Amino acid sequence: MKILIASLIFISSLFASSEVNVYSHRHYEVDKKLYKMFRKQTGIKVNLIKASSAELIKRIQKEGKYTKADVLLTTDVGMLELAKSKNIFQKIDSSFLDKTIPSYLKDKDNLWFALTKRARVIAYNIDDVKKDELSTYMALTDKKWKDRILITKSTEVYNQSLLASFIVKDGKEQAKKWASGIKANMARKPRGVDKDQLKAIAAGMADVAIVNTYYIGQMLRGKSFSDKETAQYIGVFFPNQGEKQSGTHINVSGAGVVKNSKNKQNAIKFIEFLASVEAQEMFAKVNFEYPVNPNAKTSQLLQSWGEFKEDKTALYKVGAQNKEAVKLFNEVAWDK
Ligand code: FE
Repeated sequence: MKILIASLIFISSLFASSEVNVYSHRHYEVDKKLYKMFRKQTGIKVNLIKASSAELIKRIQKEGKYTKADVLLTTDVGMLELAKSKNIFQKIDSSFLDKTIPSYLKDKDNLWFALTKRARVIAYNIDDVKKDELSTYMALTDKKWKDRILITKSTEVYNQSLLASFIVKDGKEQAKKWASGIKANMARKPRGVDKDQLKAIAAGMADVAIVNTYYIGQMLRGKSFSDKETAQYIGVFFPNQGEKQSGTHINVSGAGVVKNSKNKQNAIKFIEFLASVEAQEMFAKVNFEYPVNPNAKTSQLLQSWGEFKEDKTALYKVGAQNKEAVKLFNEVAWDK
């Protein structure tokens, strides 16, 4: 009897451990498909809790050693660095991740790894703007673009990371010059999300918008007929491609293993799975994000936008300048 009970406990503990609890800020359909694939391959069930990154980080802090979270999956390096600064991650020991993910796409202490890349590009109305009028992010501060630019609020972490990357590369003064120059050329006060800017430029309310690439993909390949129509009027331009320029700004979505995780091995397996060629090609095909695994192919649509030079500034440095970026945005009254 004793042996029976012991083996029952053993078996149930096996089942109890075949799960991984993921706190995620990602709000894309592709993730659900990937969780199913992961379960099929490994038998590990993904339990998902969705909220904003800031909320999830606070929650993990509050839950402390009682937290259920094994993995924090989030978008943007600003958030990954915030999580790191709150001391909720543990070092990930994975030779696969270590050799697969390029060093500019991971934390220097292996506390987080990027899992997808998104380029923050200049989208333009193809009837009103010629490609050769576009060049760099800074060139958009020229008077010529007055009342022609759309971009989201400064509270959007994507903008914070873009500005933070300028701080890292060109210093605070230049970064502030960019922010005030863009502010001066905005066609309206910042509002809405990236997709709203795309719709507005297609409707002719402005000529260019600074957005993440995958939103254009979602509109082109999504279910909404009007989105598809709208996206026909939008061109994609990768800024800062000149020989002496640093390349188009990249931000990422990425993950870390939570310090008080009870399923650490499953958590690592989960992150490794998301970095596998199979999962990476899904991210590219279904959500139009760029793979971080160099062995993965991008999708046809991504290829149609062309190859481009990426800014390879180490992203943990960009994340670390997040607070400075927020300060500069406030100084130039970006949202007012
Ligand atoms: Fe997004």
